[in-house]
Amino acid sequence: MKICTKCAKCRSEINLKTNASDRFGLAKKNGERINLSCNSCGTKKKYHVDELKAEESKVVSF
Ligand SMILES: [Zn+2]
Repeated sequence: MKICTKCAKCRSEINLKTNASDRFGLAKKNGERINLSCNSCGTKKKYHVDELKAEESKVVSF
């Protein structure tokens, strides 16, 4: 599963690849807060799993 969120500082997209099948599995594996660093500005922050969006492999249109 791929998850993404926005950097709290510069709003760039942060992507993370995980072998967890969903956010629940991710939280179970890594804890509720995942440490991510932004590729754009280098800010490191712990993001709560609720702040992360799972990127589904199927196409979802909004
Ligand atoms: Zn950033």
